[in-house]
Amino acid sequence: MKYWKKLPHRSLQTRIEMALKENVDFENDISLGYPASKLDNKVFYSDASFLKDAPTLKTYVANPNHIGCHTFGDSESAFKGTQEIEREVLRVMAVDFFKMEDEQFDGYIAPGGTEANIQALWVFRNYFTNHFNAKASEIVILASEDTHYSIPKGSNLLNIDLMSAPVQFESREIDAVALESIVKKAIADGKKYFIVIANMATTMFGSVDDPDVYTNLLDSLGVQYKLHIDGAYGGFVYPFSNLKSSINFSNPKISSITIDAHKMLQAPYGTGVYLSRKGLIENVITKEAEYVEGMDLTLCGSRSGANAIAVYMILFTYGPYGWYEKISVLLMRTNWFCKQLDQLSIPYFRNEYMNIVTLYSSHVPHEIAVKFDLVPEQHNDKNKWYKVVIMDHVEIDSLLQLINALKELD
Ligand SMILES: *Cc1c(COP(=O)(O)O)cnc(C)c1O
Repeated sequence: MKYWKKLPHRSLQTRIEMALKENVDFENDISLGYPASKLDNKVFYSDASFLKDAPTLKTYVANPNHIGCHTFGDSESAFKGTQEIEREVLRVMAVDFFKMEDEQFDGYIAPGGTEANIQALWVFRNYFTNHFNAKASEIVILASEDTHYSIPKGSNLLNIDLMSAPVQFESREIDAVALESIVKKAIADGKKYFIVIANMATTMFGSVDDPDVYTNLLDSLGVQYKLHIDGAYGGFVYPFSNLKSSINFSNPKISSITIDAHKMLQAPYGTGVYLSRKGLIENVITKEAEYVEGMDLTLCGSRSGANAIAVYMILFTYGPYGWYEKISVLLMRTNWFCKQLDQLSIPYFRNEYMNIVTLYSSHVPHEIAVKFDLVPEQHNDKNKWYKVVIMDHVEIDSLLQLINALKELD
């Protein structure tokens, strides 16, 4: 770990206070040109005494706008203090989590995983148009059937076809034979440029795609492609549970990664993360964004700088060892739960490195699913799966109640 460490609360607080001082201070500085201010003072008191010890909340009240991308070119100078913290947070994730070389990344804290994924599709689509003169009809998105619905959403928005690779029912692994025939058919139909999305944990199963299944095939067929990893679900778990994982930037074929800090990291909503190699994000420059100092290379416009501070606070409060311990506890609980299911002969899917267990619905009566708030794969009578996600608040005592309820069925 090069940049990530545990820091005492006092250092974090000082760091954030200094950053806020470098930003424009709407309360005390003369700043006449922004359609912005600190949060409404009648409602959000900036002199509340508890804010003194709560740097994230203090930042929310100060209300910095992190509009634009701060890893590329100039940025809005009014908020340079907290933008620097956003860069620090991105550096930790790019370099320490995902093995990027120093300063070789671009990225931003997006409003969520959906936007980060759509940003990735947008960057790749424009990359193919700008560099190869590709027509929209020659580009295709390739993803497994367990892929998150943000990908079909992006396909619809960007007007790029999506092809879905089937997975084996039990293992949730991509069916390589079916994939090959789908890709060959796409090529025969005139597709020349492939945008591949591989999951570092699917939302329903926690299954992790092997990116080589895609890249080996596409390499052997000699077609152009770009590969994005959707780590919205697993990005804060998998790299710490599977230390041998090579689903990161050490694989030169991986161009960008999505991570969601508002899932496993328990940051507030509004903290997706988009990370990419240098040389890509400029494909989505909006030249018309002239009132923004620097360049706008992001899908959203204005976004709260406080979200970056929230992620900074969590990462540096834990540090790498603290985070590793937290994930280890979740995995121990998951192991315990799976062992109980084994004893009851209840079938399920689980990736050994993930904190999700997806049970066959044939063994879980509807009433039990409702009582324990299990999430179905489909909200209709075709549903075949229910998932249990072992989060911080999902302790063994609660899991035991579910196990007991299932036991009573015998
Ligand atoms: C949750 C999720 C997303 C979308 O994230 P939002 O933050 O809800 O927009 C994308 N991909 C996967 C795999 C997810 O689990």
